Amino acid sequence: MTDGSWYDADIERVIITETQIREKTAELAKQVSADYSTVEDGLLLVCVLKGAVMFMADFARALGRHGPAAELEFMAVSSYGQGTTSSGVVRILKDLDRDIAGRHVIVVEDIVDSGLTLSWLLRYLASRKAASVEVVTLFRKPDAVKVPIPVKYVGFDIPNEFVVGYGLDFSERYRELPYVGVLKPEVYTRA
Ligand code: 5GP
Ligand code: MG
Ligand code: MG
Repeated sequence: MTDGSWYDADIERVIITETQIREKTAELAKQVSADYSTVEDGLLLVCVLKGAVMFMADFARALGRHGPAAELEFMAVSSYGQGTTSSGVVRILKDLDRDIAGRHVIVVEDIVDSGLTLSWLLRYLASRKAASVEVVTLFRKPDAVKVPIPVKYVGFDIPNEFVVGYGLDFSERYRELPYVGVLKPEVYTRA
């Protein structure tokens, strides 16, 4: 299950393995590739730092096998959330580097939970006059289904637990784990 690395000692349970992530990423890339096979100016992938950075890198590489060509854009936002929650009030820390007007945009997300950040982002990208905007997310939590956000491509529906790994952090740690798991309770009291 785990690979004998230092962080395994902090993990209570692996939720999604490295292999599952790799296979699902390839599947999602194939779907996106098929759906966008006719776009002429390629795709613009927008990653919201930092959580989606692993998925962005692997998804872009997987898409690269099939096409269409993609440009990679990164945004950083602060959602004024505390600890493990988010509020939906968003401030841009790093904006897009280019004009997205007329472009086909895919937002690459790590996880959709309340969807607050994402719904703000979709309004923002629409206001910048993208030709189309869709979302690919590797993970989705149960609360996300209550939010009327069109998330076209979903990797895994996961239980309503706080998870770490593959980009997802607890206090900026555990992002480098190759899998996604749940921390042992003592990790939180230690922090
Ligand atoms: P939302 O706005 O959909 O509630 O969540 C936005 C962000 O909260 C996600 O992009 C992610 O960075 C963070 N988040 C949501 N659920 C989890 C989780 O289980 N673990 C971690 N580490 N971050 C989460
Ligand atoms: Mg995110
Ligand atoms: Mg975080």
